[in-house]
Amino acid sequence: MMMADAGQSLGDSFSFLDPNADSCAGKSGDLLVADYSDPAALSQLAATADIASYEFENVAVEAVLQLQEKLPVYPGVDALKACQDRLAEKQLLQQLDIPLADFAEVNSRIDLLAAIGKIGYPAVLKTRRMGYDGKGQVLLKVPEDMERAWHKLGDYPLILEAFVDFNNEGSMIAARAQNGDIVYYPMSWNIHLQGVLAVSFSPWYATELQQQAEDLVRRILEHFNYVGVLTLELFNCDGHLVANEIAPRVHNSGHLTIEGSACSQFENHIRAISGRALGSTQSKQVSVMLNWLGEIPDHGQLLELPGIYLHDYGKQARPGRKLGHTTICAENWDDMRRKLNVFSKVKNPAVQAAIAALA
Ligand code: AMP
Repeated sequence: MMMADAGQSLGDSFSFLDPNADSCAGKSGDLLVADYSDPAALSQLAATADIASYEFENVAVEAVLQLQEKLPVYPGVDALKACQDRLAEKQLLQQLDIPLADFAEVNSRIDLLAAIGKIGYPAVLKTRRMGYDGKGQVLLKVPEDMERAWHKLGDYPLILEAFVDFNNEGSMIAARAQNGDIVYYPMSWNIHLQGVLAVSFSPWYATELQQQAEDLVRRILEHFNYVGVLTLELFNCDGHLVANEIAPRVHNSGHLTIEGSACSQFENHIRAISGRALGSTQSKQVSVMLNWLGEIPDHGQLLELPGIYLHDYGKQARPGRKLGHTTICAENWDDMRRKLNVFSKVKNPAVQAAIAALA
């Protein structure tokens, strides 16, 4: 939906394939309701489009291969494959000499014991596939946690990862064009609540960390000859960045680029895949994004304040579901504190976390 909203101003039109009939993307183009892997639906989609893209890394590789026979698909299938499997992803990061937590493949209880022997506690046991927003992972702090974790996840191919004692988490969003040009957004500082992104602040990190992050993401983009937007999620450990995961797509922490940057991540993705020149990633102001999970608080008069932008995705409310977000733009962080304080009566964990973080 957000890519189409950005691309429409460039004169493009959009068709979507989504299994949900009430997909919010349907408001921004033609919606084909079918499974992502439905061969007839994929043929129909290919017949109506010049270029295809995806913004969900659990789309089947076979579906992308089918589309690729008919039209260009960006990002390419190699990046998709690597990002679908945490083991392949970690091996790639290792190959590219990108710092990451110690990890081990786990396919049996014996593997798990050996992995714990190697990595120690605390550690995080994760499913290799279909995990996002903290789904499919268990934190192991003490030996007693092992049985509980194995009981929960033992049926899946797994990896065990050392727990990273980070100061904070950030993301580096970059776009690579068909001619190899790359643009980098300023890194954002991200706060997760229960494994799900709740708040992002941008631009946040100092020049030195920004340069470290740009160097790391460039290695990934060039390795894949990647076209489009890609995100590298990072842990900041006392000024040293450690990679958490790669998202081969626009990212939730980049939603604030819609109002906060000269050219948003969504527009840059469309520009990249359609062979256009990339737009400036310069921040216009400082921005905070608050994710609305489960319910959208009543904004009331807050919307009368300048620099506050509500995005309601029009989704049905369900506990924990991402229903929308709000971006707040301000001249500087002092001005942002004042604006956030106006929200202080809103009983919402993202709001409280943002206020506490800037206090
Ligand atoms: P993921 O789905 O792997 O991105 O994990 C979701 C969140 O869980 C991350 O953003 C971190 O807050 C936390 N997390 C995941 N892996 C680790 C780790 N190895 N060490 C510390 N925290 C982690």
